[in-house]
Amino acid sequence: MNIKRVPVLLDGQFRNSSAEEWLDVSNPASGEVLARVPLTTPEEVDAAVASALQAQKAWKNTPPSERARLMMRYVQLLKDHLEELTQLVALETGKVLADARGDVWRGIEVAEQACHIPSLLMGETAENVATGIDTYSLVQPLGVCMGITPFNFPAMIPLWMFPLAIACGNSFVLKPSEQDPLTPVRLAELFVAAGFPAGVLQVVHGGASQVNQLLRHPDIQAVSFVGSVPVGQHVYRTATDHLKRAQCFAGAKNHMVIMPDAHRQQTINALAGASCGAAGQRCMAISVAVFVGTAISWQQEVVEALRQLTPGTSADPRAAFGPLISARAKNRVLQLIAEGQREGAQCLLDGSKATVVGHEQGHWMGPTLFAGVTSDMTVYREEIFGPVLLCMHVNTLEEAIDLINDNPYGNGCSIFTGSGAAARRFQNTIQVGQVGINVPVPVPLPFFSFTGWRKSFYGDLHAYGKQAVRFYTETKTVTARWFDEESVVSGPNTTISLK
Ligand code: NAD
Repeated sequence: MNIKRVPVLLDGQFRNSSAEEWLDVSNPASGEVLARVPLTTPEEVDAAVASALQAQKAWKNTPPSERARLMMRYVQLLKDHLEELTQLVALETGKVLADARGDVWRGIEVAEQACHIPSLLMGETAENVATGIDTYSLVQPLGVCMGITPFNFPAMIPLWMFPLAIACGNSFVLKPSEQDPLTPVRLAELFVAAGFPAGVLQVVHGGASQVNQLLRHPDIQAVSFVGSVPVGQHVYRTATDHLKRAQCFAGAKNHMVIMPDAHRQQTINALAGASCGAAGQRCMAISVAVFVGTAISWQQEVVEALRQLTPGTSADPRAAFGPLISARAKNRVLQLIAEGQREGAQCLLDGSKATVVGHEQGHWMGPTLFAGVTSDMTVYREEIFGPVLLCMHVNTLEEAIDLINDNPYGNGCSIFTGSGAAARRFQNTIQVGQVGINVPVPVPLPFFSFTGWRKSFYGDLHAYGKQAVRFYTETKTVTARWFDEESVVSGPNTTISLK
């Protein structure tokens, strides 16, 4: 059978890679091989950077309003192809359609933000900083930037990166996840169709070797990475070792604190959805429920709510979520579930044997719930990245806050309560970068930034929003004086004062 080959995008052209090694891209709901993705050759990686470097020379001088107009065209194309992109995300990730559509839509929102680039690139001015002297700042692009993206949001996360980086006047080399590269390549096709100059965006494929080559490349100035903690740490160390700017978004362990005065049904619904949506394969999924005081009596209702959520194919409107991305990912989750049982957590719901009739080759799992979890257990310490909810019990809000602050991750957390005072104490003292108050998955919209903390993020400036504009640009400060006939001629100034 003739299986589709995923192209690379080099110098504005989609081409077949001359790679010798290729990986299968599979539908996780059926195991069917959808395409083959190349491990791009070193020569192709170098060619991508060289072409990006060349393209950036003219692109950086293209007026930001023209860049914005091209971006508006791109946003319109993304919207015109929303359903097609949704189907593609569903095909290669197994996400149910509504969730796949959300993956695309949350990415489009970031590209929309890139359309505001002229005002985002404005500098500052101060007149008369000394007599006859003005100071102003210019915001200029860095050069060639690169992005490495994970499997779990093949539309949203590439769109967190390249539209803003390019709108800022950079060129960009994208290395998407090798597990689901079809969506990122389609995003790139629409980008080229929007009329951006050749070479401003390049797409190469592969894994560690291609990433490492890019990280060491002298012509790359900035690195955006999203993925697991070990790879994120490696990417951050290598990028900064090679004197590059880096932002690395990594794994998570997100807690929801449940106070006894919370709205009972809303809380239970929110917890069930946030723990099992996308089969728990979201960096902002709730993986730990912390019941405070008498709220522990709601635990059994959470079990019942989870029992109602069944996996299924994207074509099944009753399905709550899809399969895990691969057999390897599923095996890892199964091993962690076995470890939880061995370490004495009580498994009140076991989804490890779930399957979907007629689609037995898919990597299915049903919701799993562990009660009586303690902070020394492996299931608590490691990111599981599957539909597994851990339940813990503490006596006070302070204990809940201490528990979360002792956990090394800091991506997201939430509190469900009817008390403004409890919510305020929580938001003020919690050491986590994104906090929800009666909101289970508090992912900020793109006029803010995505602000994970601690082990969930390595770097200084976060994704999208104003922070990303600062990440993808350099500030130049100009101090200027102009002489005319009336200027007083002064002697040499040997001090550092402005005179
Ligand atoms: P991953 O770390 O396995 O892969 C991420 C990217 O790194 C891929 O493009 C992959 O090809 C590349 N890569 C893999 N091994 C590498 C190596 N040794 N050297 C260099 N590059 C390498 O992550 P994944 O399984 O695709 O994604 C899931 C992970 O991403 C989870 O841990 C999840 O929490 C995290 N994630 C975090 C955020 C966030 O914003 N914090 C968002 C989404 C996903």
